[in-house]
Amino acid sequence: MDLFTQIKMAVSVKEAAEYYGLEVNRGSMICCPFHADRTPSMKLNEDYFYCFGCGAHGDVIDLVAKLFNLSSYDAAKKLAYDFGIDPDKPPAAAALRKPKYPLAKAFQNETLHCQRILCDYLHLLAHWKVQYAPKTPDDTLDDHFVEACQMLDYIEDLTDILTFAELEVRVKTVDMLQKDGRIDRLEERLKRTEKEVDARDETEIG
Ligand SMILES: [Zn+2]
Repeated sequence: MDLFTQIKMAVSVKEAAEYYGLEVNRGSMICCPFHADRTPSMKLNEDYFYCFGCGAHGDVIDLVAKLFNLSSYDAAKKLAYDFGIDPDKPPAAAALRKPKYPLAKAFQNETLHCQRILCDYLHLLAHWKVQYAPKTPDDTLDDHFVEACQMLDYIEDLTDILTFAELEVRVKTVDMLQKDGRIDRLEERLKRTEKEVDARDETEIG
């Protein structure tokens, strides 16, 4: 049996959602993490999720892949790791095993929060690196381009650490990101940048 099948048998969509800090209500509904959702419009079934607001849907592996911006394979590996599923053990035994590190809810939420912001920032940097690249060798380097070159690898490493590192390392990294409100400042900045981009787009259209 392949890892994908094994994970789908061992971990329900709801279990994964709860484990990664999403708040599941009694009707197995959650606020959709993939669109700005104020009332829970995502339904969690045993083996798939569906959002009535934005149409997002998939199985437990899709959910984790989307949440953490991972490929299906990496999402499967993450689930296997977090839920203590050994690919070489039969699924019956694996399904009974409790998560290796049952994380405290608050920490899960904090990690998720950091990961989301870092992912957004990473996308922005990747975009800047192309958009603001110098056209000729004589061009003065744009600040956006310089920042992208300096930060891309580092931010990519941080998102990897938050996704795959051992608990102890993850805790330290989240602490580091929250120190002196670093992650909050980055979030504020990303929001401002988003508004600037929106404003610019509107001007271009109008
Ligand atoms: Zn949605």
